Amino acid sequence: MPLMKAIQVSAPGADFELVQKGIPEPKEHEVLLKVEACGVCHGDAIVKQGHFPGLQYPRTPGHEVVGTIAKLGSESHYWEVGQRVGVGWRGGHCFHCKSCLKGEFWACESPLATGISTDGGYAEYMVARMEVLTPIPIELSSVEAAPLLCAGATTFGALKSCNAKGGDLVGIQGFGGLGHLALQFAVRLGLRVAVISRGKEKELLARELGAQFYFDANNVNPAEELMKVGGARVIFCTAPNSKAIAELVEGLACNGQMIIITFVNEPMQISPTQLMRAVRSVSGWIGGNAAETLNFSVLTHVVPMIEVFPLEQAAVAFERMMTAKVHFRAVLKVGEGKA
Ligand SMILES: [Zn+2]
Ligand SMILES: [Zn+2]
Repeated sequence: MPLMKAIQVSAPGADFELVQKGIPEPKEHEVLLKVEACGVCHGDAIVKQGHFPGLQYPRTPGHEVVGTIAKLGSESHYWEVGQRVGVGWRGGHCFHCKSCLKGEFWACESPLATGISTDGGYAEYMVARMEVLTPIPIELSSVEAAPLLCAGATTFGALKSCNAKGGDLVGIQGFGGLGHLALQFAVRLGLRVAVISRGKEKELLARELGAQFYFDANNVNPAEELMKVGGARVIFCTAPNSKAIAELVEGLACNGQMIIITFVNEPMQISPTQLMRAVRSVSGWIGGNAAETLNFSVLTHVVPMIEVFPLEQAAVAFERMMTAKVHFRAVLKVGEGKA
């Protein structure tokens, strides 16, 4: 059996290990991808921590995967060997639950999650189901396209679905992998943006990318600052800090929406009165349409800012992401492809 290099986690809490394992065979509705790039997402921490029902080990993480199709399963129509495609968080849907029968695949009751319920892209090869593949536009390199498949699709999807319209003020809490993409999309959608982060280092870049305001939460109360400039129509929360998120509710304008797009494990303390007084709401968002995101990114020149690591350095890349040191998305470059 031909072998490949892959990173895997053997049990909850275990470190990443580099292993040699057999190249998987695509089943009938799957394709085999020769991985070129895989983004390192906060969601990958689920594999290390074991916080997911039914998660089985050993498991290879990675759900921002760009690769070329190396082999088709027997029933994998529509795709061709050699095509460059991407796979994000959604790894497949069941096609027979109530949501799938209505065509609402995003709400599938038994969805697969890439790199969680199946092995992901921290490897030289992976299999993916054909219904979740997205073609990668020629204008984007593989390492640039990878973060758009989860971080990009999530932020773009949240922006497209929210109540803010051109000219409205939106807040972006956290300025990392998700935040720096949310800012670029928001500016191109005609929104005024206030970035809320800690420290002064990122202010210049945030302003260069189009932020009108930058509130350093170490020095000012960001909710008060938002209210001084009219209050936010929407605040997108991208940094996993329940306390910081809860404090921002007071920065929402009347009818304002808080949308949480990052995994946060701790409960949040928000008084119902804070919501009721100004008809505010708090909601969550996950996923998005990768094809729309890629097309919009090409059309409006949104490019993720990345640090590239070889597959063997996955642990270093993951650590830099978890400690918010990476500028702004870590991407594993795998093999010798066009990446
Ligand atoms: Zn992700
Ligand atoms: Zn379903």
